[in-house]
Amino acid sequence: MDDSLERIAEEVSCCSLCRLSATRKYAVPGDGLCSAHLIIIGEAPGRKEDEIGKPFVGAAGEILNKALEKAGIERSNVFITNTVKCHPPNNRVPESDEQSTCRFYLERQISLIKPKIICILGGVAYQSILGGQSIMLNRGKFVNRNGQTYFLTIHPAATIYNRTLLKILETDLVKLANELNRQKIKEHLPKNITTENNRHSDCLNTNRDLPMHNK
Ligand code: URA
Repeated sequence: MDDSLERIAEEVSCCSLCRLSATRKYAVPGDGLCSAHLIIIGEAPGRKEDEIGKPFVGAAGEILNKALEKAGIERSNVFITNTVKCHPPNNRVPESDEQSTCRFYLERQISLIKPKIICILGGVAYQSILGGQSIMLNRGKFVNRNGQTYFLTIHPAATIYNRTLLKILETDLVKLANELNRQKIKEHLPKNITTENNRHSDCLNTNRDLPMHNK
């Protein structure tokens, strides 16, 4: 049988591959458009997400929704998920074995959706997916890894009591929206015409063998 997002969601909802399944109420496979150009990946479902089975529906979700709206990114056009699909008790950081066990689901979601950009929210997801060390040093940057473009920004929960961080999240998402729009415009141009400003001054190329922005 062909793989599908529905099939992954079914598997996730009855998954018992790690200890998080013992304490969850609902697994949170992810939510959104199967043809999304953008996947957003957070750390792990929180308490509210665990109660409902959907990602980013609590306080952090409200912040994310507002920042996306300000940037002109429609949440309904995005696919949103997390590095692990079940709520870690007491909101603790997911253990590395929990992350690696769950990675299989995320990888399948990414290969089905084939997004233009994956936006990573916060240091835990950055470390988990790209092995990154400091989200504050690297936020606002595009990273190319194995032919996939990633965009790094802070986790919305980090902005709850910090207006400066909220501004940073909002600015980063505007930058992400601009890049998504730029790619859309480029797609519609005849092959021999390129846009004037089509290089990234702040694009990290972490895999030197691959051309940047080869999509
Ligand atoms: N924080 C996350 O990282 N993910 C969610 O789904 C909700 C809060």
